[in-house]
This record gives sequence, C-alpha cells and structure tokens, in this order.
Amino acid sequence: MGEHRFYLAPERWTSPEGLVVDGQEARHMTQALRLRAGDDVALLDGEGRVARCRIRRTDKKQVFLDLLEERRVPRPASLPVMALAFSKAVRRGFFAEKAAELGAHAVWLWQGEHSQGKLPPQAAETWRAQMIAGIKQSGNPWLPEVRALAGGVEELIRLAARADRRVLPWELEETSSIIGPSRLGLPGVTVYAIGPEGGFSPRELESLDAAGFARVSLGDRILRCETAAALCLGLHWWASQLPDHAV
Ligand code: SAH
Repeated sequence: MGEHRFYLAPERWTSPEGLVVDGQEARHMTQALRLRAGDDVALLDGEGRVARCRIRRTDKKQVFLDLLEERRVPRPASLPVMALAFSKAVRRGFFAEKAAELGAHAVWLWQGEHSQGKLPPQAAETWRAQMIAGIKQSGNPWLPEVRALAGGVEELIRLAARADRRVLPWELEETSSIIGPSRLGLPGVTVYAIGPEGGFSPRELESLDAAGFARVSLGDRILRCETAAALCLGLHWWASQLPDHAV
C-alpha cells in the first residue's frame, strides 16, 4: 500500500474521468505532502475498499489517479454503535480519532436533557470530517457513520430498537455489575448509550430502562463522557479480537 492514505467518497469511484480527488484531499496531496505524478498513494472509500493508486497528473484543483490494485475488506461481524450525548466540552478530534481506530460502526450524537449546549445543525458534517481524518490516519477501511439526533433520548431509543444489544454505562451502577466479556465484542449491532457530563436525567434513565438497555458499571470512578465512550469501544474491540470469542 502507498504510504499516504486519502478518502474518496464511494459514489465518486465510478466517475467517467476515472479516479479524481479534489478539494481538501487534493490540497493535502499536492500542497501539504508535495506528491507528484508517479507517486503512489492509497485511497479508501470508507466502505471497505482500499486501492493502491498512482498519480497520473495534477492540476490546480484536482489529482487524477490510475488504479494499480484494489481489495475489499469485509465489514466486521461485531458492530459497536456509540450513542454519545452531545456536549460542547467533548474533545471531538480525540474521540473521532479513537472511534475510527477502534472500529465504531456508528456514532450517534444525541441531545441529552443535561447536555451542555445545543447540538449544532452542522454537527454530523463536522464530526464526519473528523472521522474521515481518523480513518486516513488509522487505515481502518470502514468509516463510522455519524448521525446527529436532535430528538433526544426518544430518537435514540427508536433507532436502538433495531440493534441486537443495548448497553447503558451508568456511573451510579454498583461496581459488582461491571461490564464483562459476556456483552462485549459479540456479532451484530451493540448500542452503548453514554450520558452527557451532567449525567442522565431520571426521566432518560427510566426510558432507557424500559427500552431494555442493560445498566453496567465501568468501575468506581466517574469518567468524562469521551473517556467512558473510548473505554467501551476499546473493551469491545479487545473482546472482538479474542480468537474464539462467541462467533
Ligand atoms: N454527571 C455525572 C457524571 C456523568 S459522566 C456526575 O458528575 O456525577 C458521563 C457519562 O459517562 C455517564 O452518563 C455514563 O454514561 C458514563 N460514565 C462515566 N463514568 C462511568 C462509570 N464509572 N461507570 C459507568 N458509566 C460511566
């Protein structure tokens, strides 16, 4: 594989002009990295396709590439969805990078009653851009899907109804019910609901309970929400990599 990785959205792989990268990706190639005709790069479509390409030519705004070799990485069997309550304080870059590295299937930003600030209208877009940076950096060929849920916990519950498992990390849960391998890394979709820095409201907890979210502890220390989310993804990733884990 070429050393540098770039993203090209899936619908752009069939353009009659061939593989053409523009915008920020092209600037990154030609201006930041000073890549030129004859240099090799890797292209990712975020849906499992990884291509080794050679730069044919560049102009002011675009880079034209020839395909050398392409492979498809199958979608993983275990698909963790991180439903992270929105907060202005969340370190987006940090979390997006960890989500891409640790193989989040999706990230749902939801508006909690105790969320600090309101989910901005462009939230999904800005988070998505950061996820793209994350897959380029980590080489994970699957881009986590990003959704912004303005409809609060109700919308989260509606979407999670289709998942195979629902987990609710809660800081006041007894440490005896600490999350264990029986819930982690299993095939299918597992949704983790993480509350905002202000915690879940009693009403949200009640609705999540009623929707079948299983309360678990992450130990007897209160973690920041992005730490709790990254820890769940890390544990899930670890369990999914165990040689004979539940598959
Ligand atoms: N408002 C709370 C802390 C919320 S921490 C307080 O200050 O008391 C943000 C979120 O991270 C929580 O809603 C929960 O989903 C998760 N979390 C943090 N620490 C946790 C722990 N020890 N066990 C389980 N979940 C935890």
